[in-house]
Amino acid sequence: MKNKAVLMYFPPSDLMKALINLKCDKALEVIGYSVENRPIYSLILGDGAYKILAWSQMHGNETTTTKASLDLVDHLINTSEGARLLKQLKLQIIFQLSPDGASRYTRLNANEVDLNRDAVAQSQPEMKALIRTYKAFNPDLCLNLHGQRTIFSSGATNKPATVSFLAPAANDARAITPARLVAMQYIAAMARNLPVEDHWGIGRYDDAFNINCTGDYFTAQNTPTILFEAGHYPEDYNRDKTRDLILSSLLACLNCAVNQSYTDFSLEDYAAIPDNGNHLRDVEIQNVTIVNNANITTSTLFVQYKEVLKDGAIHLIPEYAGNEVELKGLKIINTLNKNQTDPVNIVESSEKILNHLQSFIDF
Ligand SMILES: [Zn+2]
Repeated sequence: MKNKAVLMYFPPSDLMKALINLKCDKALEVIGYSVENRPIYSLILGDGAYKILAWSQMHGNETTTTKASLDLVDHLINTSEGARLLKQLKLQIIFQLSPDGASRYTRLNANEVDLNRDAVAQSQPEMKALIRTYKAFNPDLCLNLHGQRTIFSSGATNKPATVSFLAPAANDARAITPARLVAMQYIAAMARNLPVEDHWGIGRYDDAFNINCTGDYFTAQNTPTILFEAGHYPEDYNRDKTRDLILSSLLACLNCAVNQSYTDFSLEDYAAIPDNGNHLRDVEIQNVTIVNNANITTSTLFVQYKEVLKDGAIHLIPEYAGNEVELKGLKIINTLNKNQTDPVNIVESSEKILNHLQSFIDF
């Protein structure tokens, strides 16, 4: 079966190499250990009064924001802009809160717990380390850095949500508490800064309240918390372009914190960001001849890639993703100019349907 390797795997060994390459003169701190006793590293930069706590990869398979936070450190310690920001800010970054998940390339930690649902229970050592750090550092602002799948769109369009944000709710009523409003203002400022084009966009994540989620929990403690989701950029399955856009957003955030320019933005500016849709699929294959209960007709069929860790790399494995009319493809393949030998029987198993579609999917 065809598949393609992408540069999405970023295990603890790669993090350590990247941290050494930074040549930062600040000592790495170990804030705790994972279930499998891997160290969780953090770095504190700057000595300003306004404190920002950021953490990435609490879901081990969401690596782009970890890479972007390393880029941020590199920028902060090597540029005049960085020197200026670090005079007024104190920034603590936790890289890879789930080193076990990073090693396995899984959302869950080694106990198969979703750390982003463990904020109240604090049952896992990784979450205990985050809460301990949060209490000791007492941040003015938290940055909760994640990554999202290719299925998410900017509103009802076929544009991927390359960057999505959320100012999480602090209660069931989703009230605009003072902390939540500050997060909304920061997000509106960062969204304004992004150079959106016709083929990609920004999304605003669903704000259903769940106190077990880290961002909701910290917002409920009156700390403004911003969820970042690094998403898909067209054709960029390594997410290099997304990584640059996340870095740009992080820098915009830090500049806003220094000059307090987030206060120029309103709740309405935040609400104007399109909702995150979830109707995108990696490949849309049009005009496929299908057979359905002996009727021969044509249909548009969809394929979604699954990310699988194999031999130390992430491979994109195509899977059949249905033919629902509300779906839209990121890449569109028209079969009209291609020879289709047999009609696809769409009541067959997904594997059999995919075997028919293989010839149309060119990596
Ligand atoms: Zn996540």
